[in-house]
Amino acid sequence: MSEQWIYLNGQFVLKQEAKVSVYDHGFLYGDGVFEGIRVYDGNVFRLDEHLDRLYYSAKSIMLEIPHTKKEMTDIVVQTLQKNQLKNAYIRLVISRGVGNLGLDPASCATPQVIVIAEELALFPKELYKTGLEIVTVATRRNRPDVLSPKVKSLNYLNNILVKIEASLAGVSEALMLNDQGYVAEGSADNVFIVKGNKILTPPGYIGALEGITRNAIIELADELGYDMREEPFTRHDVYVADEVFLTGTAAEVIAVVKVDGRVIGEGVPGKETNRLLEAFRKRVVEDGEKVYPESNQVEVS
Ligand code: PMP
Repeated sequence: MSEQWIYLNGQFVLKQEAKVSVYDHGFLYGDGVFEGIRVYDGNVFRLDEHLDRLYYSAKSIMLEIPHTKKEMTDIVVQTLQKNQLKNAYIRLVISRGVGNLGLDPASCATPQVIVIAEELALFPKELYKTGLEIVTVATRRNRPDVLSPKVKSLNYLNNILVKIEASLAGVSEALMLNDQGYVAEGSADNVFIVKGNKILTPPGYIGALEGITRNAIIELADELGYDMREEPFTRHDVYVADEVFLTGTAAEVIAVVKVDGRVIGEGVPGKETNRLLEAFRKRVVEDGEKVYPESNQVEVS
């Protein structure tokens, strides 16, 4: 990509000039919300669902996004067009805005709206063939009654601590348990285990983000005739599963072949994981909203 344009509060600015104030409460306090979305061949995958999650997250923290969902859709499309991207990862960030040094968001006049679209740095293809080795970490998932994991806020310290623990253990991803010891999710992905025809993923109340990819996989597993259940499970259930996989916008569906030193199944990506990945890759093409029509170039400011 030659030049990268960032949408910043109503204007497109070059990446190197896209700057926000050090008084922005997103920077000072992690006060804001965000989304990560994929566009496949001009089809934005489940944009409505992503925008619903963004607006629910914002409502939960009493942050008013200064655009309707329709306007946000147009901004996403314009950002893709401006950057001539049809296959990309899109990041939406809404921060509380510029205020004073106090915590009170009342000092922030207007939220800042940022949209970044980048050519996707895909996980190395090799990883989908070999699968991931992961560990469970000491960092527990935020309790839903403290800071709901359903809010995709700019406060990702809980998840960052998981990443740090994973790196220290020499792996690239890890699982978090909730405060009761049930498996919750990865640092930025949801988790599934397969046992025979049964597929389990932790229910919402265990404490995980309600992943858009997770929802799509639950639908697909139902359609494909698996006994798909949202049920709590422990580390033990993970260790003795036939297959384990993670889901997320960036990773899609990725097999886990070792957890805390225990080899999962045959130690290679399993049949059901591969089948679901294939079904998911079909679904993103069938299901995408064609919001990037060639003939309908949107005016860009
Ligand atoms: N959990 C967390 C904590 C995440 O940040 C993400 C990535 N957004 C996910 C799960 C996966 O969600 P999605 O499938 O919507 O990307």
